[in-house]
This record gives sequence, C-alpha cells and structure tokens, in this order.
Amino acid sequence: MLLFLYIRQLRKKYEKTEKEKKVICQGKNMKVSILGAGPTGSTAAYYLAKEGIDVELIDKREFPRDKPCGGGLFNPPLFYKEFPHVKEIEGKYIYKAKFYCRKYFFDYESKDPLMKTCFRKDFDHFLLKKAMKEGAKLLVQKKPEPEGDIVINANGARRIKDYPEAGICLVNDFRIEKEIDTVYIHYGFHGIKGYAWLYPKEGYANIGIGAYLPQKSIKRIYESYIDFLEEKDAAHVQGKSYSAKIIPFSSIKIFILRTH
Ligand SMILES: Cc1cc2nc3c(=O)[nH]c(=O)nc-3n(C[C@H](O)[C@H](O)[C@H](O)COP(=O)(O)OP(=O)(O)OC[C@H]3O[C@@H](n4cnc5c(N)ncnc54)[C@H](O)[C@@H]3O)c2cc1C
Repeated sequence: MLLFLYIRQLRKKYEKTEKEKKVICQGKNMKVSILGAGPTGSTAAYYLAKEGIDVELIDKREFPRDKPCGGGLFNPPLFYKEFPHVKEIEGKYIYKAKFYCRKYFFDYESKDPLMKTCFRKDFDHFLLKKAMKEGAKLLVQKKPEPEGDIVINANGARRIKDYPEAGICLVNDFRIEKEIDTVYIHYGFHGIKGYAWLYPKEGYANIGIGAYLPQKSIKRIYESYIDFLEEKDAAHVQGKSYSAKIIPFSSIKIFILRTH
C-alpha cells in the first residue's frame, strides 16, 4: 500500500527525539481534528490518540462505508512490522502470482505471503474502530466544523484537476464457487495505459481495471478481461457487472518508466 509506505516515511522522518517528545507532551493539552476517517485519517488518529492526544475524526459519511477498491494489502510481513495493529484484520493470504506485461509472462510463488486481501468496507471500518478504541472520537458532519487547535486534512484524493492525469477504474467483487489462490496482474491488457487485476478473496474474486484517460471502450476491455480469466481457468464468475469511477492519477511518465 503506497499510502502506508508514505506514512512510514513520515513516521521515520519524525521519529521522536527528546525535543520532539516535549512537543508531544505539550500536544497533550491540544485538540487535533482530522478531516476524513479513511485509512489515512484513522491511522493518524490511532497514533495520536495512543500518545494521549485529544483527537476528533470528522467524516461526511457514516461507517462502515464502501469505495471502489481492490482490497489488496501488499507485502503483509513488512506492513505488520510498521503497523502491527493491522495484523488482526481478517483476510486471505496469497502466496502465488501471475504477472503479464505485453508479451512477457512471469509466474511466481513465495514462501511469505505476497498479499493479504480483505474487503475495503471492513478494512476502513477496522482501522477506524482501532483509532476509536485508543480514544479518538468520530463525528459525522456533512459540513465539517473542526474544533481542534490543529486540523489534519485526510479527505482523500478528490479534485481531479489538482493531479497531473486522470484515469478510470472499473471494479467489482464477484461471488465465486471455487476458491482461488493466485493473484493476477496484467499490465497493458489490450494495449491500455494501465493494468487489470484479479485479487482472490474468501468466497470472492475482485476483478478490476484502471487506465489513464483518454481510453476508448474500457467497458468492453473489462469484459474481455473477465473472458481472459475464464479462458485461463483463473476465475469463473457470473455476469460482468462493475462500478466505475473517474480517479486522479500520478504522472503518466512514471507509469511508462515502471512498465518498460
Ligand atoms: C479502483 C481502486 C482500487 C484500489 N485498490 C487498492 C488496493 O488493492 N490496495 C491498496 O492499498 N489501495 C488500493 N487503492 C487505493 C486506496 O483506495 C487509497 O490509497 C486509499 O483509499 C486512500 O485512503 P485515504 O484515507 O487517503 O482516502 P479515502 O479512503 O478516500 O478517505 C477519505 C475520507 O474522507 C471523507 N471526506 C471527503 N471529503 C470530506 C469532507 N469535506 N469532510 C469530511 N470528510 C470528508 C470521505 O468520506 C472518506 O471517508 C485503490 C483505489 C482505487 C480507486
């Protein structure tokens, strides 16, 4: 999870020196408001509340709430090292992966789990409950009225125009009869600037596709990916439904560098 790697970097950067410990002590008399109770907001709230700081988390939506997501937690051992409290989340460990990138194919099996999959709704709710257990308070407000001395903005990647590029994603959790144990990632499927994936979950297959815009016929390409998975005997799902969303993307140059 890129987000968690970013928080880890921040934590390393602000590792507590004696001077900083004093700042935290002073902070104990402060109130911190966090706008957005997604993984970013809830994780910040968890660590602050653990330090005894008065934290209010404000979200415009009731929890548990859903979002389009793959639900994959990459490299769980590294993840737990940095965020031990995440270990308890229920999910499925995946040890096998098949990667496709244009004409290349790579089959991989690992001793350690490559990823853990869970449902986005449960994951976000789990993190929120952890923060609340440490003492953070949740307020549901359509128009946030933060009362803190410090306000942290954690309301997600929202305004497309603030990002270098825009993309589209189509995703769904499909019920499955037969359990799947391999994750599939397919860069450049049908020539898209993006990738398609299959993340196996307990009783479900999360199938999605994300591509830079402009992108023609993404719906048809998504359906072709489901057919491809069927042909490979990777997943057999009923129907081809999905939810679609326009999302902000980082620079396309970075994507091209990574995939060439
Ligand atoms: C299709 C897709 C698949 C993905 N798959 C994966 C994956 O498999 N693994 C992975 O690690 N990541 C995945 N991601 C990325 C992951 O979803 C994000 O990194 C993560 O959601 C970021 O968390 P966040 O807390 O910053 O933002 P969010 O989860 O978006 O939370 C922001 C919160 O702020 C609230 N909010 C917004 N505006 C306001 C406001 N004005 N006032 C109060 N509250 C507000 C929202 O209601 C929301 O609850 C995927 C993303 C997409 C789009």
